[in-house]
Amino acid sequence: MVRTGRTPTGSHLVASVTALTCVVALVASGCTGAGTDGFRPGAADAGDPYVPGRGNGGYDVTHYGLDVRYDPASDRLTGRAVITATATQDLSRFNLDLHGLTVDAVTVADARADHRRRDDELVVTPRDGLPRGRQFTVTVDYAGVPDAVTDGELGSGGFLHTADGAVALGQPDSAATWFPVNDHPSDKASYDIAVTVPDGLSALSNGVPGPTNSADGWTTWRWAERAPMASYLSTLVIGNYRVTTGTHAGRPMVTAVAASLPATGGAASSVARTGEIVDFLASRFGPYPFDSYGGIVVADDRIGYALETQSRPVYGPAFFSDDRPDPGVVAHELAHQWFGDSVSLTRWGDIWLNEGFASYAEWLWEEHDGGRTAQRNFEIQYAATDWTQPSVEPGRERMFGTAVYKRGALTVHALRRTVGDDVFFRILRTWTAERAGGNATTSDFVALAERVSGRQLRPLLDAWLVGGSAPTLP
Ligand SMILES: [Zn+2]
Repeated sequence: MVRTGRTPTGSHLVASVTALTCVVALVASGCTGAGTDGFRPGAADAGDPYVPGRGNGGYDVTHYGLDVRYDPASDRLTGRAVITATATQDLSRFNLDLHGLTVDAVTVADARADHRRRDDELVVTPRDGLPRGRQFTVTVDYAGVPDAVTDGELGSGGFLHTADGAVALGQPDSAATWFPVNDHPSDKASYDIAVTVPDGLSALSNGVPGPTNSADGWTTWRWAERAPMASYLSTLVIGNYRVTTGTHAGRPMVTAVAASLPATGGAASSVARTGEIVDFLASRFGPYPFDSYGGIVVADDRIGYALETQSRPVYGPAFFSDDRPDPGVVAHELAHQWFGDSVSLTRWGDIWLNEGFASYAEWLWEEHDGGRTAQRNFEIQYAATDWTQPSVEPGRERMFGTAVYKRGALTVHALRRTVGDDVFFRILRTWTAERAGGNATTSDFVALAERVSGRQLRPLLDAWLVGGSAPTLP
């Protein structure tokens, strides 16, 4: 993610406390009502203090099949989610995250299941307990007017009703505003997404485009993301867009620019460089990890950021204000396809693993594109850095702060200076290859860097990531 500036407020603190209270209440009541002997409820959250209440335990999702219909005239969404998961414990009941919306019916393994709502939790009790290791399918029919999520310093996200349609987007969570989901990056899954909208509107999402078909004034657009995807990297963009469909390196390339933006301006010319920028990044980070490419520029000013939605980042309009191009933000979001999307966080406290590398990629791109060298950007940023703020475990209110982005990038360059270019880029390529499609932590990165380089690097990385004073220049 890159933000274009936002006024911090303290409102997220209130939201956090409320959400945490609900989770505690849910877990406590869940401890008493287990069904089958030895079977117990799955946890009501992923245990990540940066996103209290988000995610769930007791199962692992492998696939989401989403079929949604959205009518901008009424702002009403109707959906069916078919979720394939495997029980990771003997499971008497489990939760999905769902914000707003009304659930009409839930089945588990084709049998009607009991379901209740507790705030943003959908609590599902299957007719029979699910033994550990059992694969099962949950089908949820739901409908309603989806909500945005406003979260103070973390910005507004979720499902935004726009002038011509809607945009569902947001980090650290947004998916639960339009489908029931295990809403934490530790549980990645593949997706098939069908979106039905009135004829004439575009409906864009992640992955490879499938066939569209129209009937009775409605058109269904289909998208498939086969590689595991974290839920916050899913997106839905509906409205009037100039959509360009082609191929790049033999894979589908779909870019779209809001029709209200200039046809040949800064936004259009920047996303048109997607293929060129991906190829440059692949020459540094290893093969591009997904089977499609793209980018979407939206026109709604409430999207004050760009987000690395998988295979198809979404860019807010402010990056291209006054019709200026901004290939730097494109490089940032595309770098996330390796760092964040393919190799994902296990917990949000390690978000520098996403943002430090994406910010460093901006420096690499700038140097490649004839601008400042990475070394020069490093020197400027080193002089400007507040070393009292750590990159790792920055605190929830600073998860999109300078220490995560800029100090993270400084750390990456310090590593490069220490081990040399050959070993540095071998570390990056080994990381993206070995961890592709999975999750990882800062400790995993340190261990891999030490293994590939044959050197002890923890003291260096500790000093650059979390030390309380300016580290010695390598
Ligand atoms: Zn980012």
